[in-house]
Amino acid sequence: MNYTKLLIIGSGPAGYTAAIYAGRANLNPTLLEGLQPGGQLTITTEVENFPGWAEGVDANELMDNMRRQAERFGTKMLPNVATKVDLDVRPFHVTLDDGSEWTADSIIIATGASAKYLGLSDEQKYMGQGVSACATCDGFFYRKKVVAVVGGGDTACEEASYLAGLASKVYLIVRKPYLRASKIMQDRVFNNEKIEVLFETNTLGLYGENGVEGAHLVFRKGESDERKYDLPIDGFFLAIGHHPNSELFTSWLKTDENGFIITEGDSPRTSVPGVFAAGDVADPHYRQAVIAAGSGAKAAMEAEKFLLS
Ligand code: NDP
Repeated sequence: MNYTKLLIIGSGPAGYTAAIYAGRANLNPTLLEGLQPGGQLTITTEVENFPGWAEGVDANELMDNMRRQAERFGTKMLPNVATKVDLDVRPFHVTLDDGSEWTADSIIIATGASAKYLGLSDEQKYMGQGVSACATCDGFFYRKKVVAVVGGGDTACEEASYLAGLASKVYLIVRKPYLRASKIMQDRVFNNEKIEVLFETNTLGLYGENGVEGAHLVFRKGESDERKYDLPIDGFFLAIGHHPNSELFTSWLKTDENGFIITEGDSPRTSVPGVFAAGDVADPHYRQAVIAAGSGAKAAMEAEKFLLS
């Protein structure tokens, strides 16, 4: 059995920032980096809105710096995933994917969120063969090809703009008659001649012999105007939001109807004393790296207070 005073689960901006603060408070935290060290940011390219980088910063460089900063103050990094937790016992009990067992006096959950899919069986069928939820990971394969992006938020606009730099044509499939994205993102989309927005349109399925060759779409305006048609495309990108990676904890912690961990007021305190939540796993609204980092700092400060008491 291994023991750590503070276990941080997750390695995005929230997890690493919690580790920096906890390390500087001499808590010698252990951090589980999980399947995607650095978190969601590592699948984007440039981050333009993290304060301190006037010209923007490469997302991987930003995360690598956070990681090294956390290590510098004594964080032990493990390349593992937690597979089971028991938050009823003290110290808390956590099992990792390599079978090792850990106990911890306090836990910070910073497991982030994952991309959502529409739930079509065709998404599974063509996964990796034309279906993707990450334009910056897979966009390269669609140079000079025709792709579609689903969604009307900032992510969808960002992905569509990114893909327009590679593909010959990008359709943005939006279920409402307007975009939810911020004005600046909308402008980027509307001013890009390679992007065509298909408002009030939903995807019914995908087709193709060898990977995606097109999408079955339906345009709906009110109740009477409905038109089904097929749109030839080579790639189908999902950008319809994220769901929190909180499944492991839902038997122990209060979550909202979408699975986001509920914390007390403006604090990172969960419904179990000694367990704190930071970053996107507890943030249905903002989902920003800088906010995740801030909440990681708060979680570490709260954990320190808890451990002292
Ligand atoms: P959002 O929740 O903001 O947007 C999701 C979009 O997907 C909405 O347009 C929604 O439609 C649509 N959608 C959801 N479910 C379906 C479905 N089943 N079928 C079709 N469309 C669907 O998520 P984002 O990931 O875009 O953004 C999350 C947060 O991150 C936001 O706060 C955003 O501002 C921020 N962000 C900021 C960036 C930046 O500043 N650079 C970049 C990326 C994200 P509807 O509108 O109809 O609900």
